[in-house]
Amino acid sequence: MYHNPVEAMDRTALEELQVDRLKETIANAKNAPFYEARLSGVNPEDFKTVADIEKLPFTTKEDLRGQYPYGMLTRSLDEFVRLHASSGTTGTPTAVFYTQKDLDTWADLMARCMYACGCRKSDVLQNMSGYGLFTGGLGIHYGSERLGMLTVPAGAGNTKRQIKLIRDFNVSVLHIIPSFALYFAQKVQEEGFDTADMPWKIALIGAEPHTEEARQKIEDMMHIKAYNSYGLSEMNGPGVAFECVHQNGMHIWEDAYIVEIIDLDTGKHVAEGEIGELVMTTITREGMPIIRYRTRDLTRFMPGKCECGRTHRRIDRITGRADDMMILKGVNIYPMQIEQCLMAMPEVGQNYLIELVTEGITDQLKVKVEIKDEYFVEDMRSLQGLQKKIAKNLCNEILLTPRVELCQHNSIPKADGKAVRVIDTREK
Ligand code: AMP
Ligand code: ZN
Repeated sequence: MYHNPVEAMDRTALEELQVDRLKETIANAKNAPFYEARLSGVNPEDFKTVADIEKLPFTTKEDLRGQYPYGMLTRSLDEFVRLHASSGTTGTPTAVFYTQKDLDTWADLMARCMYACGCRKSDVLQNMSGYGLFTGGLGIHYGSERLGMLTVPAGAGNTKRQIKLIRDFNVSVLHIIPSFALYFAQKVQEEGFDTADMPWKIALIGAEPHTEEARQKIEDMMHIKAYNSYGLSEMNGPGVAFECVHQNGMHIWEDAYIVEIIDLDTGKHVAEGEIGELVMTTITREGMPIIRYRTRDLTRFMPGKCECGRTHRRIDRITGRADDMMILKGVNIYPMQIEQCLMAMPEVGQNYLIELVTEGITDQLKVKVEIKDEYFVEDMRSLQGLQKKIAKNLCNEILLTPRVELCQHNSIPKADGKAVRVIDTREK
C-alpha cells in the first residue's frame, strides 16, 4: 500500500525521528561557512522537541544569494555530483548542490510521491518538462526510474513528437506543467485524436500555482486524473509534497523535512489551519542542509487524517507567493483569485494574462482572456455581453472592475516553462 512504511509511521515516533535528524542537521550545517557563523552558540543537544525549532533563525532566499556559489556547502566540492538552479521565478537564480547520497534520497522521495498517486512499476512515464538546470527534468526522471517505470525523457516542446511518443509507447503517466496541459490537450484534438482514446491515465501537474478549477479543466479536457506536485529547488526540487489518490491536499514528507507555517509579519506559527508562509528545514540532506527556509509560498495545513492512512501532514494547494500579491488602488489581489474565477467560466479557453498599467495618472488592471472558438462570434453584442460578464465575475472576486479584453484562442504568447501570468509596467 505504501512505497515505504515510514509514510504511515506513528506520529510520536515520527516526531522523535525528526528531533534526532534535526540535531544531526544542526551539527552538520555548522560545517558550511554560512551556518558556522549563523549558528555559532547553538547546541544541538538543546533541541528536545520539534517545537524547539523556533529557537533557530530563518534562512531566506537573500541569504542563499549572498552565499553564492559555495557558502552553503558542508563539504569539499569533490563530494558533489550535481547542481541545479531555481528558475528565478523572482530575481536571480540560486544554485543547489547534491552529493550522490542526496540524489538517492531525492529519488526515493520522488518515487514515494508517484506511488502515492497510483503510479506503478508497470507504468510508462513521459516527462514533458524541460531538462537542464530546472529540477522538474532530472528530478522527476530519476524518481520515475527509481519506482521502476519505463521513462521517456521527452523534454519540453514539440507537441507532435510528444503525441507520437505517447501513442507509440503507450504512455500512461505524464509529467506536464499545468499551464501547458490545456494547450497540449487542444493540440491533441487538432491533430485529429480524441483525448479519451489516448493511453494516459495519470498526469503529474505542478511547478507553478494553479487552481482547483484549472485542475478540473485539465481532467475534463484530457480525460485524465491530475495530481498536484509541489517542490522547490532549495528543498531538492519536486518530491516535497504530493497528492495521494484522494486528491485532498498534498502530503509533505515529514521524515525528510520539518514543516512550519508562519505569519508573514510576525514570523510566529499561525493557528492550526490558517494560511501563512511555508517554512521548511531539510533533515536528511548532507551536502547542503537548509534550516527554516522561508519559501514565500502561501498555504495551510489541512485538518484531519487522510483516508489513505499516510500520517504525514497535508498542505493545501499553494494559493500564491508572498511576493505575488498585487496592490491596486489599495486592494490586495492574488493572480490565483483571477484564475479561479476565469477557469470556472465555460466560455473561457486555456490562457489568460494580467497586465498592470499606468494610464494618465491612474493605475489600471487589464485582464486578457482567451475565449473558446465557439464563443468567439461575429455578433458584437454577445461579445460585449461576455466581456461584461467576465468583468462582473472578476469584480465579485477581487472587488475591482478590471478592463477585460477578449482574445482569440492561442493568441496570448505561451512561456516555454512556467507560465508568466502578470506583466506589471506601472510607473512606480
Ligand atoms: P523552482 O525552485 O524554480 O522550481 O521554483 C519553485 C517554486 O515554484 C515554488 O517555491 C513555488 O512557488 C512554485 N511551485 C512549485 N510547485 C508548485 C505547485 N504544485 N503549486 C504551486 N506552486 C508551485
Ligand atoms: Zn492521503
